[in-house]
Amino acid sequence: MDTFFYALFILSLLFSTRGADDDSSIVSRFQRYLQINTAQPNPNYYEAADFIVSQAQSISLHSQTLEFVKGKPVVLLKWPGSNPNLPSILLNSHTDVVPVEHHKWTHPPFDAHVDGSGDIYARGSQDMKCVGLQYLEAIRRLKSSGFQPLRTVYLSFVPDEEIGGHDGAEKFADSDEFKKMNVGIVLDEGLASPNENYRAFFAERSPWWLVIRATGAPGHGAKLYDNTAMENILKSIESVRRFRAAQFDLVKSGLKSEGEVISVNMVFLKAGTPSPTGFVMNLQPSEAEAGFDVRVPPTADQESLEKRIAEEWAPASRNMTFEFKQKVSVYDEFGKPVLTATDSSNPWWTLLEGAVKKVNEKLGRPEIFPASTDARYFRQLGLPAIGFSPMKNTPILLHDHNEFLNQAEYLRGIEIYESIIKAYASFERTYKR
Ligand SMILES: [Zn+2]
Repeated sequence: MDTFFYALFILSLLFSTRGADDDSSIVSRFQRYLQINTAQPNPNYYEAADFIVSQAQSISLHSQTLEFVKGKPVVLLKWPGSNPNLPSILLNSHTDVVPVEHHKWTHPPFDAHVDGSGDIYARGSQDMKCVGLQYLEAIRRLKSSGFQPLRTVYLSFVPDEEIGGHDGAEKFADSDEFKKMNVGIVLDEGLASPNENYRAFFAERSPWWLVIRATGAPGHGAKLYDNTAMENILKSIESVRRFRAAQFDLVKSGLKSEGEVISVNMVFLKAGTPSPTGFVMNLQPSEAEAGFDVRVPPTADQESLEKRIAEEWAPASRNMTFEFKQKVSVYDEFGKPVLTATDSSNPWWTLLEGAVKKVNEKLGRPEIFPASTDARYFRQLGLPAIGFSPMKNTPILLHDHNEFLNQAEYLRGIEIYESIIKAYASFERTYKR
């Protein structure tokens, strides 16, 4: 009997030598990252950067902190490949998270509380601190297994994605440091999947923030006459509404996914002549304005939408004008639609599919991301970029209250990245775009 317990003791010692690699240490490192409050508008970027650098040091990765804008560090980690001439792999993630409404959370959003079923509650658990640390954990495992990358693997932890990425990924992608990295493929964030297939994103919609303006002769509120500003803007709003309904019908009928249609939502309506008690009620105003958030997939016909705006939504024939507060082109620097191929012409896509399959998992049909991510700055340069956050059987809770990720899903995601990074870093063929 004594020998039996002695054997158990030895066995337990053997298992405890797994140390840094057992599931609870992996989860606790994730919790530590989640506990750093990097919520906009005052993200604690330096604490996050220190944490990432310390993690990198613990697995002997080179680290460098770039500060294109003061107070907004980009942490760049490097795992050198044995053939530095081959284009490198970039694993990108953002360190900031969106704000929280504390009182709407069941568990405090920066506690990273794990409940009885293993759900880890925290802002950033899905978007996207999970991905940033999963990259690191996957590399930790690959290193300890003795794997040597052929291609150099970079990890970037960038600020400000949630406020447009202009001081983060945009400056990074434009930098000399980035050029020197000779990046061949970028992985960035995707979305959770409520079913058993993982989701991958090959493009995203471009925001067109449109303001249309109508002018007309002012007049008495009792008089019917043509070409009033209000009448003109209403005709446009009707036309926009019909277009919106037709696009939405395509989604509702299942013919297209959310990311594949042009979405239009009216975000403001400005008209009327103010009075001390509200608006003047017997006067037809001479000006009216409406604003729309339009999202355009790169697969859409940009010219025909422009024509529709000029001829139907804000026609000069009805005294209307329009301007864009923001208009991101659906074309890249080379005049091609900003999208990453998801067929055999793109070996990185094939490799990703294969690597996911290898660990007995499935990808759904590749999708267009319905909103914007930092991936656009890399695709804009003509680089392939795939949005992928390995979370399946998980409700989509990014930017929502009670954002959580189950720890089993988190751990599974590390295995998926292990497979992907291994496939990418071993890929020998010189890839020509
Ligand atoms: Zn995100």
